Amino acid sequence: MKFDNSAALLERARQIIPGGVNSPVRAFRGVGGVPPFIVRGEGCRLYDADGNEFIDYIGSWGPLILGHRFPPVMDAIREILEVGTSFGAPTEREIELAEMIRDAAPSCEMVRLVNSGTEATMSALRVARGFTGRDLTIKFEGCYHGHVDSLLVKAGSGMATLGIADTAGVPEAFAATTIALPYNSPEALEAAFKAHGDKIAAVIVEPVVGNMGCIPPSREFLDAMVRLTRQYGSVLIFDEVMTGFRVSYGGAQEMFGIKPDMSTFGKVIGGGLPIAAYGGRAEIMNRVAPVGNIYQAGTLSGNPLAVASGLAMLRHLKSHPEVYTQIDKAAKAICDAAPKGTAVNRVGSMFTMFFCEGPVTSWDTAKGADTERFKSLHRHMLESGVYLPPSQFEAAFVGAAHDDEAIAATVEALRRFE
Ligand SMILES: *Cc1c(COP(=O)(O)O)cnc(C)c1O
Repeated sequence: MKFDNSAALLERARQIIPGGVNSPVRAFRGVGGVPPFIVRGEGCRLYDADGNEFIDYIGSWGPLILGHRFPPVMDAIREILEVGTSFGAPTEREIELAEMIRDAAPSCEMVRLVNSGTEATMSALRVARGFTGRDLTIKFEGCYHGHVDSLLVKAGSGMATLGIADTAGVPEAFAATTIALPYNSPEALEAAFKAHGDKIAAVIVEPVVGNMGCIPPSREFLDAMVRLTRQYGSVLIFDEVMTGFRVSYGGAQEMFGIKPDMSTFGKVIGGGLPIAAYGGRAEIMNRVAPVGNIYQAGTLSGNPLAVASGLAMLRHLKSHPEVYTQIDKAAKAICDAAPKGTAVNRVGSMFTMFFCEGPVTSWDTAKGADTERFKSLHRHMLESGVYLPPSQFEAAFVGAAHDDEAIAATVEALRRFE
């Protein structure tokens, strides 16, 4: 496999874009010491600037549950090109998309559309603070909620990969509004509420973690979050940017039968275009401007192109519930071929093979994984034409476009790893 063209592109990119990439996790050193620069995607496959072909398990980091260039999504985008891509004025499709989100996740009685997952969590947090009149937030170590100032404390994803404990550029005072607790520890949560309960505006959580690798929540942990936020009048925010319409149509909240006060969505709901949403109980959401005095706005929020793409995606998923059984089965087949010495976590089509003994239930247990061994696996798979997340601390995604041939090739490549 050659990566000469990607190497030349990286060299040029580095002169003008920090690290040559527009999001840090893309900057991994692949087989040729460079990340493949991508020129085209089709179904479950990616094609790079050197003509290499890969089976894609990143899926744009979550959105592409139906694969690249899914025809109904492409058709919906084409339709919008005929009418205009942005009006800065309300449109009917925005109502339809918001209604589809509410119907999938009925805890969201009202919904506001924004442009990225970061914007969704940032806005949800502001609304929770405005609603409760409190400042503190509880988050969990290793969870990533976008690059919101106060949430970049002990965050997973790129920060975990690069070993950046606390980012520069966040004022001490912002970080001090965040209490970071271990994931899956009802005891730590209980203690934090006992100490600061009347000051805690919100608990924000990845209800299934993807951003320190895939980690499912324990029932006790979920129940403790619900019980304590109710008891102390705090807002429970499920960050479903990754899990929404991914672990099931109704997200993790449907899977676990929980009604959070607020939720955030992104990734899948845009069908590959930039869009996200936050929503929650009407009592809370009606505090948002122009109805209430909590301000949040966006020039391109709910833009027709992203809304149409998302609508086409959700409509297909809604009318094809068998997609979820199919991708669950495919992910299981891949996980069954995991290399010796790995602890495998999988929830539906999200999975991670951790190079450690396990069980992996928190950042403390995840960070002990052998990342060098993981790098060898990643290289071996890339050379075998399989594009996995480049970090031990990122979940892989299976989509409906992964056909039997792709799954078989992946399983075969995994079996060859030594
Ligand atoms: C990806 C992600 C975000 C951030 O979304 P962006 O669109 O990248 O800003 C927030 N929360 C979770 C759980 C995510 O996986």
